[in-house]
Amino acid sequence: MQTFSGLNLIRRAFGGHKGWQPQWRTPEPKAEYDVIIVGAGGHGLACAYYLAKEHGIHNVAVIERGWLGGGNTGRNTTIVRSNYLFDESAALYEHAVKLWEGLSADLNYNVMYSARGVLMLAHNHHDVQSFKRHVHSNRLNGVDNEWLSPEEVKAFCPPLNITSMRYPILGGALQRRGGTARHDAVAWGFARAADSRGVDIIQNCEVTGIRRGPSGAVEGVETSKGFIRAKKVGVSAAGHSSVVMAMAGVRMPLESYPLQALVSEPVKPAFPTVVMSNTIHAYISQSDKGEMVIGAGTDAYTSYSQRGALHVTTHTLDAICELVPQFRRLRMLRNWGGIVDVTPDRSPIIAKTPVPGLYVNCGWGTGGFKATPGSGHVFAHTIAKDEPHPINAPFTIERFRDGFLIDEAAAAAVAH
Ligand SMILES: Cc1cc2nc3c(=O)[nH]c(=O)nc-3n(C[C@H](O)[C@H](O)[C@H](O)COP(=O)(O)OP(=O)(O)OC[C@H]3O[C@@H](n4cnc5c(N)ncnc54)[C@H](O)[C@@H]3O)c2cc1C
Repeated sequence: MQTFSGLNLIRRAFGGHKGWQPQWRTPEPKAEYDVIIVGAGGHGLACAYYLAKEHGIHNVAVIERGWLGGGNTGRNTTIVRSNYLFDESAALYEHAVKLWEGLSADLNYNVMYSARGVLMLAHNHHDVQSFKRHVHSNRLNGVDNEWLSPEEVKAFCPPLNITSMRYPILGGALQRRGGTARHDAVAWGFARAADSRGVDIIQNCEVTGIRRGPSGAVEGVETSKGFIRAKKVGVSAAGHSSVVMAMAGVRMPLESYPLQALVSEPVKPAFPTVVMSNTIHAYISQSDKGEMVIGAGTDAYTSYSQRGALHVTTHTLDAICELVPQFRRLRMLRNWGGIVDVTPDRSPIIAKTPVPGLYVNCGWGTGGFKATPGSGHVFAHTIAKDEPHPINAPFTIERFRDGFLIDEAAAAAVAH
């Protein structure tokens, strides 16, 4: 595998940057694999990587109907944090944050994980109570989170307007180890590392069916490049998870909504952290290119349109202008949407399914980027061992039948 050491970069620079190899191959699908993953987003690629690296399963294909990282992985606002309320969620997201901390070294690829802190603003009494509850719960789970007074909020993030607004800032919960990562680099890093371990990444190949044998078990997938056999199929198709799972006759407890984001023109470093406000609904950080990266809310209606309604973004910009009045003069460069798959309790599903050989990783809604390495890691375990890792054991499909919900819908500090 080619390396990106400083020495190598200098050597290539003197050679006009000729001779770099493609970072992954473009193989034709084989007739059969041990495992097929549907969807080359971060989660699917991470799963393939850990299948090869930790479980010695190299005969793996990741099948992607578009281009790798072109789904929600390449469309999100890159916020990473683990300060979720419930024990099950804290364990899952903290597992991911621990992997983020060593991911660039592990993949030998700079994913630009930047622990610049995630600051969640409280604007009313309910917010204060709820966030303090999060702080206590997180600390009991060994997850860093601390309460800041309004003055401490201002000191930590000076551009914020803390008083002269309709809902003044009454404090904030700060997770210092939270932050951002470069989403494309995450997809590329996992893709390169998986490819180098023998995983076939097959782009521009749509899965159109999941074939089951007489016993009901999975036999393989129908694709736009023909039938590909595999006894194990893992679905990591985000906004289209329910569509893909229906191909195997499994009805999922999911709804799909458009979720939007937008970026401003680039400016000099002006915003030091990630700020989230659920109450007035805005979240913002500054990318390393200088753009303000702004997340909006989901549309009110289900849709696969991959672009949301204009009033959703204008509402978010109203909130940003209140929070950071000097940004009123920033011009917005572009906006886009992704399709997010939302479960009734707003927690993901990472599980075996009632169909032997079929596994699913979905329901991440508006917040799965932060989980990418952790999710891929435990999903690989689930597929390799045919049983869940202790961390994802609670994240079953059956919880919606049995009532063991992980109800971050009411408890999460960000609107879904
Ligand atoms: C605007 C926006 C902002 C967000 N902000 C954040 C954030 O700040 N922090 C955070 O943690 N999360 C955020 N998220 C959520 C996060 O992006 C997702 O939860 C996460 O990226 C999901 O990753 P994935 O790999 O499962 O999905 P994806 O990257 O969407 O990958 C799924 C892939 O499956 C492919 N696929 C679908 N159907 C088929 C088929 N039939 N055959 C073959 N391939 C198929 C798709 O083309 C796609 O590439 C945001 C999402 C959006 C849209």
